[in-house]
Amino acid sequence: MIKEKIARTIGKYRLLNKNDKIAVAVSGGKDSTTILYILKQLGYNVEALHIDVGIRNFSRKNLDNVKHFCAENKIKLHVFSYKNEYSYSLPEIQQILVRKNIKLKNCSVCGVLRRNLLNKKARTLGFDKLVTGHNLDDAAQEFLMNLFTARLSLSARLGPKTGLIDSKGFVPRVKPMYFIREKEIERFSKKQGFNVNYCACPLRALAYRNMIRIALDNYEKENKNVKENITGYFLKIMPWLEKRYENNKEINKCRSCGESCKDEICMKCVILGNL
Ligand SMILES: [Zn+2]
Repeated sequence: MIKEKIARTIGKYRLLNKNDKIAVAVSGGKDSTTILYILKQLGYNVEALHIDVGIRNFSRKNLDNVKHFCAENKIKLHVFSYKNEYSYSLPEIQQILVRKNIKLKNCSVCGVLRRNLLNKKARTLGFDKLVTGHNLDDAAQEFLMNLFTARLSLSARLGPKTGLIDSKGFVPRVKPMYFIREKEIERFSKKQGFNVNYCACPLRALAYRNMIRIALDNYEKENKNVKENITGYFLKIMPWLEKRYENNKEINKCRSCGESCKDEICMKCVILGNL
């Protein structure tokens, strides 16, 4: 069932081709492990990219799970760490930001650093696509968060397929589980007996997203399609959002690191520059 739904999404949105060399960003959690497993089953040419953010036991356990899963399923695994690439682990970055009184949320910082590293590695390793484990709940939550904080410009890159700006610097990012509920993925993962981490990241900045998550789960009791309705609405206005916010910006090379970005200096370098 979940496999068929994923295959349908891939077909409908032309997310992947059979001859693509595909990198799956795998964290050691249920979502990314599930999509890696299903894409392999569907016969796609997949390899796994794992980023070790350096949260002691949590990260070590995730890395163990990913290694074990990839060995068992004969999937090539590439591992990179914040410590090696950026000189600091995520907890170290967090400490420095707190000490310097820089008000950046862990998840935003980690999101920028991870996206940047995944894109760079996927590109240098010659992958055609980068797959993430985003699900329907993530999509609905993210759109509402951007709507409620008046940051619709951020939503322009939240569709099932992003990074499509015609630039060699960006590897297209695709989300084949865009229409799958988190609960359904969890059931599948448990049924398959995947050895994955069901706990959320200990550094997760809980407050805001959690509020939205709880509200949406509550609405869902009254209106079981609320998440589909939100993402459906978003997908309808997405062409407009893309036109308004994405396509009119030229792609530059970051003055500091040379990676493709839309400003003079990329967000990653802004964050690292603060440390
Ligand atoms: Zn940069």
